[in-house]
Amino acid sequence: MGINAFSAPGRFWRGNLHTHSSRSDGALAPDEVCARYRDAGYDFLCLSDHFLSRYGFPVTDTRDFRTNRFTTILGAELHAMANSQGELWHILAAGLPEDFAETGETESGVDLAARARAAGAFVGIAHPQWSGLSEEDGRAMAPHAHAVEIFNYTCDIECARPDGAVMLDQLLNEGYRLGGYAADDAHFNFPDAFGAWTMVKAPENQPEALVDALKAGLYYSSQGPLIHDFAIDGEEVVVECSQAENVAVLGRGTRARNQRGEGLASVRLPFEPFRDDWLRVVVTDAAGRMAWTNPVWAGS
Ligand SMILES: [Zn+2]
Ligand SMILES: [Zn+2]
Repeated sequence: MGINAFSAPGRFWRGNLHTHSSRSDGALAPDEVCARYRDAGYDFLCLSDHFLSRYGFPVTDTRDFRTNRFTTILGAELHAMANSQGELWHILAAGLPEDFAETGETESGVDLAARARAAGAFVGIAHPQWSGLSEEDGRAMAPHAHAVEIFNYTCDIECARPDGAVMLDQLLNEGYRLGGYAADDAHFNFPDAFGAWTMVKAPENQPEALVDALKAGLYYSSQGPLIHDFAIDGEEVVVECSQAENVAVLGRGTRARNQRGEGLASVRLPFEPFRDDWLRVVVTDAAGRMAWTNPVWAGS
């Protein structure tokens, strides 16, 4: 069995990996952004300000805003030219060193992602649909990324382009092993926080443990539903979750099985279609809110 947050030791910690403050184009100061998430019951936050020269290449220092029940991961949203649209790449890097060197004048987005990964960060391909990323863009970035941003809340409410699942599934079908994280990308210019988050399974709510778990794929993502278990039991895929209206198992190409009903909390679906390949689960509640497991690879 491949990565699976549900069999790993520890507990789930709720956090947002993609957020902006007044160190770049966000409306609120870093301490206020941290306070908002802390007060909303989050366990951790990564402030990921735009790593651009006009903002002084910030890796926003949030260490002073940690408490005994809330922690922060240092990070940034990295930018460099050029994706297939001739525009800046947007690359989420959570777990950067405070002194991560500024982007070089000729450094490409792909090279920048590789440097962030080498520096220890969890690297995500941010908002592929919003950026208009091509399949070729995905292939270029995939070897350097840990994950695709499967859902971006701000891109959803601003311009109905939240999706990362299309790119994630394409890359999974091509053999890349990537996770999918959901995030707010909140700027606080309007209510764009607390709409999508990541549940990270780690032994403790400490930045190093959280980043290690993220890099290992030990998390699921949600807009509301909880996923308590995702396992293979003999010939069945087992999903335990908060009350759902649809539970779907997805795999290569058109492979999918689902169950619909009222108040689904424990679902068994056939494992056979997904044997020897990847599979992931999407849970949808009665309000249409989703939760996404990472893929697991049944063949290895
Ligand atoms: Zn962005
Ligand atoms: Zn952003």
